[in-house]
Amino acid sequence: MPLDPSVRDRIAAAVSDGFDAQIAFTRDFIRFPSRRGEEHAVQDFVFRALRDRGYTMERFAMERSAIERHPGGGAFSPEHSEAPIVVGIHRPRQETGRSLILQAHVDVVPEGPASMWSHPPFEPAIEGDWLYGRGGADMKAGHAANIFALDALRRAGLQPAATVYVQSVVEEESTGNGALMTHLRGYRADAALIPEPENEMLVRANIGVIWFHIEVRGVPVHVQRMGAGSNAIDAAYRVIGELRRLEAEWNERATAQPHFRDVPHPVNLNIGKIAGGDWASSVPCWCKVDCRISIVPGTSAQAAMREVADRVAAFARADGFLANIPPTVTFNGFQAEGYVLEEGSEAEAVLARAHQAATGGALESFTALSYLDARVYALFDQIPTLCYGPIGENLHGFDERVSLASLRRVTTAIALFIAEWCGVEAAG
Ligand code: ZN
Repeated sequence: MPLDPSVRDRIAAAVSDGFDAQIAFTRDFIRFPSRRGEEHAVQDFVFRALRDRGYTMERFAMERSAIERHPGGGAFSPEHSEAPIVVGIHRPRQETGRSLILQAHVDVVPEGPASMWSHPPFEPAIEGDWLYGRGGADMKAGHAANIFALDALRRAGLQPAATVYVQSVVEEESTGNGALMTHLRGYRADAALIPEPENEMLVRANIGVIWFHIEVRGVPVHVQRMGAGSNAIDAAYRVIGELRRLEAEWNERATAQPHFRDVPHPVNLNIGKIAGGDWASSVPCWCKVDCRISIVPGTSAQAAMREVADRVAAFARADGFLANIPPTVTFNGFQAEGYVLEEGSEAEAVLARAHQAATGGALESFTALSYLDARVYALFDQIPTLCYGPIGENLHGFDERVSLASLRRVTTAIALFIAEWCGVEAAG
């Protein structure tokens, strides 16, 4: 049932009253350089923030064997994070409403050379409406919005009348294993909301992602004796060429998927990193290429991985140099399938009302082309999973930033969503 207008106004006012504190908290949050594997301190920061608010706390590690047995588990590599998952649990006095997972990740992607930034990447700065900092938009602002939306309800004298799990995960940027671990741990709810920086729109469909690296080997010789095609770096370029042809085929195939038919080039192969050779005058005997490719919903990660491996193997058999020492393909991160948020769920209707009240506009949806943890809840819990968050720019780039006006609107929308989805009771 839609919220009473007076309750709605009270909650919106409470979000505004807490917004300065929310910005200060978000800035403290950004100061943690929580790159992959370095999220221990920031998870302690989140743990304390939730514990001090009185939530029941749980903190747990990844269970590697359970993750590796699961079809949605990403491969473990030496870079895999060992930081814990943190969950704060709100339990109502009377469980009368629908339960909810509020999820966010704390890991951030590498910031690159600090000289490319206008402000140091982990020293948050505000210019006009923008809050700058690595991981601010993606997605510490949204993470804090979850916490402060619940705070706002309390400030308005209310609390959710259903169980709410505030989940803080790692590994979103590389395997999705943090979100998967919350599922394997047994957390379940009637809906999930993840405030990734989606420009105040709802993700209707999302690609899946696979990570792999290709290693080419050869015999090092002096350049004087270099025969045509016996260079591991040259050979790696030929393999990349074949992967580009595969990418084109997958884009052609993606037109059969209704949500991707009108998206230009939905499947993207990224050659993310390349290393090889030892010396300018020696023919390189090794080359390693790190790749990321997307898959559209309905294609399983396993099928796509098989196709990549088969394709590289077939290409190598027909190549004079590679046929002798075939390259290896190693899947070393994401093995994640895409998902579609089916239209017509009650959760979406509630979010649309909350969004309308907070922004004055209708809720729009779109197809997203980067990995989202939402797939865990959509595919394995099979619950409506709403990926919706503030306006952000330069995600994964330099001068990443989030709009503060948008953050306030989205925090209001989240608070109103929680109130209507979970129902409310007097704050305890
Ligand atoms: Zn993110």
